[in-house]
Amino acid sequence: MFDSKMLTSFAIKSSLSKYSNMKIGGNATYLLAPQSVSDLSSIVKEAKTQNLEIVPVGGGSNILFGNVGNRVIILDAYLPKIFQVDKKVVTVSSNIKISSFIDKTMQHGLGGLEFISGIPAHIGGAIHMNAGAFEKCIFDYLLWVEYVNLKGEIIKIDYNDLEFGYRTTSLQDFIVRAAFKLDKKTKKQISADREDIISKRFKRHPYDYPSLGSTFKNPVGMFAGQLIEECGLKGLQIGDAQISEKHANFIINRGNASFSDVTKLIQIVQETVTKQKGIELELEIKVIN
Ligand SMILES: Cc1cc2nc3c(=O)[nH]c(=O)nc-3n(C[C@H](O)[C@H](O)[C@H](O)COP(=O)(O)OP(=O)(O)OC[C@H]3O[C@@H](n4cnc5c(N)ncnc54)[C@H](O)[C@@H]3O)c2cc1C
Repeated sequence: MFDSKMLTSFAIKSSLSKYSNMKIGGNATYLLAPQSVSDLSSIVKEAKTQNLEIVPVGGGSNILFGNVGNRVIILDAYLPKIFQVDKKVVTVSSNIKISSFIDKTMQHGLGGLEFISGIPAHIGGAIHMNAGAFEKCIFDYLLWVEYVNLKGEIIKIDYNDLEFGYRTTSLQDFIVRAAFKLDKKTKKQISADREDIISKRFKRHPYDYPSLGSTFKNPVGMFAGQLIEECGLKGLQIGDAQISEKHANFIINRGNASFSDVTKLIQIVQETVTKQKGIELELEIKVIN
């Protein structure tokens, strides 16, 4: 077992729904919030010893929690926050929110990540997912990443040694720090670009309800939302989960949606799109069940 010190210091007794932007989730056996990287290392090492899977949680903007069983859910929220600037290079801890990163780097006349403004994510989650929008991705600006491996060791890896693709990376361990090389940009320009991106998002996406962003990845040369809409599924509702009327690739929680409401909708979408279009939609969101 996790030793009692580890559990009493860092265990959180609350529903996982608090840590997912979808506001769905029950209780976890192990919901831990380390307050230092060395505590995180101990937790990860212990989980490995006990053969338990770890699940890092950042902003929770892409995670749907089901029955998490004995998985060790680890929040980044209480780890120390780091933000350092050296010329155009910015080094940050993984638990910095994207909005805060853009605010802070703007004060130094540095920009670049404005294209993901409005995403309720943390830096670590955004790197793990290789978050992107408007034909750019976070890896375009990445220099290196530091992570805690399953042995509890802290490893630094250079951009050139990482593999990444559309919403995927080779990084499967707990990311704790990263460095980015940004562009010199005026505060005025960064602010204008950010406002422009946020206003486009508010026009296209259903920000008035909890969601996890795009549910499915776009198949090559196509848009998942368009395929779902063409199959007549826009607005379909099961319980309180609904395929958004505003953007068919978003599933929203209209109040008290359950895990199974959402997964039933996902199944209907996948089956219908395969039947009508001959295309298999792949999940973008991470379902922990
Ligand atoms: C309204 C809305 C709009 C969105 N728009 C976009 C968009 O335009 N583009 C886009 O790419 N995504 C978008 N998303 C999805 C989501 O914001 C991204 O996938 C984001 O990268 C997830 O970051 P997070 O910190 O919330 O990660 P989480 O949801 O906490 O986790 C996502 C995955 O990353 C892993 N993870 C989290 N932190 C770490 C860490 N420190 N180390 C290792 N792994 C970690 C988790 O285990 C999980 O597998 C949107 C979501 C919402 C709600």
